[in-house]
Amino acid sequence: MTDPNQTIVVGMREISKSFPGVHALQQVNLELRRGEVHAVVGENGAGKSTLMKILAGVYRADAGEVFLKGVPVSFNGPREALNAGISTIHQELNLIPNLTVGENIMLTREPVRGRFIDERALFAKAQGSLRSLEIDLDPRTLVEDLTVAKQQMVEIAKALSLEADVVIMDEPTSALTERETEVLFAIIKRLKARGVAVLYISHRMEEIFSIADRVTVLRDGQLVATKQVSEVTPAQLISLMVGRELTSLYPDKHAKIGAPLLEVRGLRLRGSDHDLNFTLHRGEILGFAGLVGAGRTEVMRAIFGADRIDAGQLLLEGQPVRISSPQEAIRRGMAFVTEDRKLQGLVLGMNVRENISLVTLPSLSRSGMIDARAEQQLARTSIPRFDIRTPSSEQEVINLSGGNQQKVVLAKWLATNPKLLILDEPTRGIDVAAKAEIHNLIAKLASEGLGILLVSSELPEVLGMADRILVMREGRITGEFTRETASQEAIMRVAA
Ligand code: ADP
Ligand code: MG
Repeated sequence: MTDPNQTIVVGMREISKSFPGVHALQQVNLELRRGEVHAVVGENGAGKSTLMKILAGVYRADAGEVFLKGVPVSFNGPREALNAGISTIHQELNLIPNLTVGENIMLTREPVRGRFIDERALFAKAQGSLRSLEIDLDPRTLVEDLTVAKQQMVEIAKALSLEADVVIMDEPTSALTERETEVLFAIIKRLKARGVAVLYISHRMEEIFSIADRVTVLRDGQLVATKQVSEVTPAQLISLMVGRELTSLYPDKHAKIGAPLLEVRGLRLRGSDHDLNFTLHRGEILGFAGLVGAGRTEVMRAIFGADRIDAGQLLLEGQPVRISSPQEAIRRGMAFVTEDRKLQGLVLGMNVRENISLVTLPSLSRSGMIDARAEQQLARTSIPRFDIRTPSSEQEVINLSGGNQQKVVLAKWLATNPKLLILDEPTRGIDVAAKAEIHNLIAKLASEGLGILLVSSELPEVLGMADRILVMREGRITGEFTRETASQEAIMRVAA
């Protein structure tokens, strides 16, 4: 008897694919087992999406074979792959916004009664597939009224109702909050339990280690290794991805910790009855760990004057200050790189030059006119300083990778010459190589004397970057650690 969980659903053998001037894939092998979550990792451009698209019938391989349950297949287009049981949950969700959840799930397969769609059966069937994944959604809701996370769930329910054997998820959590990610993971577990094989592309080590059974590493279009997740460490996986040993994932920090820069005394967030007290010094990186919803972003917003507070006092360089708006915070030398760079940090349709000068615009303007030369000069010095990889300062930021977009955000804020930098999840959704560059930048800024408040839900990042770590839970500070006393376990004990 073969263990049914070991049954191979998909075999991709010696797959090669070139685009003009690039070997996107060279003789790559991949096997998918029934009921496994198989992560595919690699730096940007490694070939992950191309491999998925070949399996999903979007591209045709130049060479190599694809087997589905042992039978060689060749798809003419995504529709054929879908009919054969291979569903893709797209990054840009593919639902029809002005139809209901149920209509989307049952699209092109609407049950009919006579010449009419049998609505009752349609919603019942849709309800069935939602319920079997324990997704609590009314099939009569319009898709346009749903959050991105909910829309993604609808896509997954749809895949399931199509009796998919394989569900491909390419960076599914890039637009989700942590809470929504947890819900997605629960749904993935249910897919697994139903024998579906999930191909999971992600940059985030934590996700891979919490959800995947096996992981395949691609580098420059080549297969590096397929491993059991339990047999590798994150550091090993990253060195497989980047092709070199990383002795330390995080930069050595040489900053001298100086005088107090920001003292927070008796800070009470709106509606909270806990006092928060802490001090940030020059040259110091103060990490904020905790689970999502612990109140870390709220503290940062309060300090930056974005939210009102019930009580408390701030001292900047020893002087009491009242900061009642972000404009005031900026004037006093604060900068805030927010959690969601797409919504709050960048104007995607504007170019690199315009984005970099966004916050400093008033000082680059003379009598209401933008000083074009000063703006150009700022872009010219910032691009190399932050190592922004862009063909020119005129490129729209929507065309840059996540890592480079984040460097633009940093450039924009650092153009104000801040003393205090607040970073909220600064490397979320960014690939490992760019992440390391941003970490180096952060360490360099601290060594130049900036004080940095670093909020991150990736514990390794806080542990690797911060001089001191405060842990928050439900709006209070529940622990404080130094570099020496901090460990993942110790932090989790006070965070959860
Ligand atoms: P990943 O998903 O791992 O970031 P991709 O599969 O998207 O990598 O890309 C692999 C390589 O193929 C990259 O060099 C990319 O620029 C190139 N590539 C991908 N799709 C196309 C395309 N449609 N046309 C030309 N080049 C492409
Ligand atoms: Mg990709």
